[in-house]
Amino acid sequence: MKRRKFIQNASLSTFGIAVGSSVFASEIKKSISEVNEILPKNAGYPMVIATWNVNDSTAEAWRVLQEGKSALDAVEKGCMIEEANAEGQSVGIGGLPDRDGNVTLDACIMNKEGDYGAVVYLQNIMHPISVARKVMEDTTHVILAGKGAEQFAISEGFEKTNLLTEASKKAWEEWKKTSKYKPIINIENHDTIGMLAIDKNGDISGGCTTSGLAYKMAGRVGDSPIIGSGLFIDNQVGGATATGLGEEVLKTVGSFLIVELMRQGKTPQEACEEAIGRIIKKNPDFKDFQVGYIAVNKKGETGYYSIHDGFWITKYQNEKNENIPSSFYDKK
Ligand code: ASP
Repeated sequence: MKRRKFIQNASLSTFGIAVGSSVFASEIKKSISEVNEILPKNAGYPMVIATWNVNDSTAEAWRVLQEGKSALDAVEKGCMIEEANAEGQSVGIGGLPDRDGNVTLDACIMNKEGDYGAVVYLQNIMHPISVARKVMEDTTHVILAGKGAEQFAISEGFEKTNLLTEASKKAWEEWKKTSKYKPIINIENHDTIGMLAIDKNGDISGGCTTSGLAYKMAGRVGDSPIIGSGLFIDNQVGGATATGLGEEVLKTVGSFLIVELMRQGKTPQEACEEAIGRIIKKNPDFKDFQVGYIAVNKKGETGYYSIHDGFWITKYQNEKNENIPSSFYDKK
C-alpha cells in the first residue's frame, strides 16, 4: 500500500466510520489535507538514474515518466536511445566487436513484479532491451541466446541491422595489429547502460544493455544480462545495476547483493560501497580493472560507487538532469 493511501486509510478509521454524515465527512477531509501538508513536498520520485553520462537517455526516460507511464516503459525507452546511437561504442549499434569482428549484444530488463527477461550474444538487432522485454512478456522463458534470440526477435518484427559501423571496424582492425587483450578502464568515459527508474506510483523497474567488453572472446557473456549481477530489482526494497568488468560483478552477484544489503537497512550508498569492497577483497589486482554500481531505494534515495576515479552517473530527479561524478575506492 502506498504511504499516502495508508495514511488516508488510517485517518478514516481513526475518525470512526462516519462517512455518510456530512459533518464527519468534512472533518475527515480536513484531517486528510492536514496529513497531506506534512507529507514531503519533494518525494524522491518519479526519478531515473543511469550509469555514465547519458543525458539523452535519462531525458527520454523522464519524458515517459512525465506522461504517467510505468518505470518499465521509461527504462526501455531510455536504454533504446543509447542503443540507437551509432557513435557510442559500447552499446547497441556501433558497439565494439568481439575479437572475430562480430558485434554481440547482451541486455536484460526487470519489472516491479520481479519478472525478468534477457538476451545474450544477440547479433544484428539494434534494440536488445526491447527483445529482452518481449522475452519477459511473450515467452515462458527468461533468457534467449545467440541465433535463437535473433530468430525470436525477427519473428517479433525486429529488423536485421548491420551493427558494425565503419569507426568500430577501424578500431577493431587497429586492435588486431597487436591483439593485446586488456580491459580498458572507463572506456571513452561511457559504457554499459544500466538504468533504474521509479514511476509516479513509486514502482521500480530497471534495464541494462551493452555490447560487452571490446574484443572479448567469441561467445563471452558478461554480467549485464544476468539477473542479480548486472541488474536486480525488488520493488519492496529498491534496485541496483552495474558497469565495468563483468566477470568480477558475476562472481560477487553484485546487484543482488546491493539490494539485499538495502533490505537489511543499509543506504544505497553504503550498499554500493560494500559491494565494491567485496570485489576488492577478492582481487589484489583491482588496480587493473573498473567496476561501478548505482542503486536506488524505495524512497528514491540513490547511491553510486566505483573502484577507480572516472565513473559518472546521470540522474533525473526533481526536474534536474544531472551528470555526477561517482565517489570511488582507489584514492591512489
Ligand atoms: N559490464 C559489461 C560487461 O562485462 C561491460 C562494461 O560495463 O564495460 O560485459
